Amino acid sequence: MKRTETRQAQIGRLKLGGQNKVLIQSMCKHKTSHVEEVIKEINECAALGASMMRVSILDEEDAAAIKEIKKGIKIPLIADIHFNGDFAIAAIKNGANKIRLNPGNINDENKIKEIVELAKKKKVTIRVGANSGSVSKDFDLFDIPLSHKLVLSVKKHVEILEKYDFHDIVISLKASNIKETIEAYRLASEMFPYPLHIGITEAGPYDLSVIRSTAGLAPLLLEGIGDTIRISITGDAQQEVIAAKRLLHDCGLYEDYPTFISCPTCGRTQVDIRPLGAKVFKYLEDNNIKLTVACMGCIVNGPGEGKNADIGIAGGKGQYVIFKKGEIIKKVSEAEAYDALIKEIDSLR
Ligand code: SF4
Repeated sequence: MKRTETRQAQIGRLKLGGQNKVLIQSMCKHKTSHVEEVIKEINECAALGASMMRVSILDEEDAAAIKEIKKGIKIPLIADIHFNGDFAIAAIKNGANKIRLNPGNINDENKIKEIVELAKKKKVTIRVGANSGSVSKDFDLFDIPLSHKLVLSVKKHVEILEKYDFHDIVISLKASNIKETIEAYRLASEMFPYPLHIGITEAGPYDLSVIRSTAGLAPLLLEGIGDTIRISITGDAQQEVIAAKRLLHDCGLYEDYPTFISCPTCGRTQVDIRPLGAKVFKYLEDNNIKLTVACMGCIVNGPGEGKNADIGIAGGKGQYVIFKKGEIIKKVSEAEAYDALIKEIDSLR
């Protein structure tokens, strides 16, 4: 189902699904039992726009740490558990708002029942997810596309939860292959009523991940598919949150963010606009200014090409012009350019 129609899941005080709002999430890179580092990481991500954060539960210390972490953060916490049902129970008891767990990987039926009953009682949502590397053995040898294997794997896990009348479910089906991922999510959106957590897995370092994630997730987002998003980066969680925010903003799904445009520059450029552009964008981002701002390389075409911007600057020979909606309002020297533009930006806030 499209995001406006998916069944709504409660994650702490947040609602996920059943709305045209895509929640940003990321995953802590520190060991969960290193409580102070994790709290710092979560709070920094929350300040940048993360609606919730996930932590890995690898041992009892990690499961116990959830209680302490919860005291130091304001956004919902997700516990990521593989295979060990006892960790899931401990995580829920310690205050996790959502757990990521594939019930089909837990052999003890009684344990699954116990987790489900506790999750119901504590109003905890369960994310069921298949990754290209963890397709269920039942389907791995089938001669069918990876997208179908991912969907069948998830279906198997979901049916276990549904058997116990549990429906507070979120689904993910991630591959590092863009086409397979898109196809898997399209199929899942037709098959399941549950919200979808979308992402490209093992997407690589920053530059690669941003390209892959955008190529894979933008089509889905624009089709109305996807209720929560994670950009996986071999890098910092903070980078993941910023990348997710930028992608959602450009897809028209996150308004509370600046729109920055700059031209590629060409032979007409007589002044290096790159440092100025970088500084202006940082100012806009740091201060969360919801304006469209243009930094253009030349006076000849810059104001015209940037006419949709609320405010812009274009470089000439040793000077700049500042323009509003394409109309030049003043000329400034190179040395004055940044301060003069910021003054104009601030006057529009
Ligand atoms: S705005 Fe001017 S400098 Fe920038 S690409 Fe266009 S012509 Fe070149």
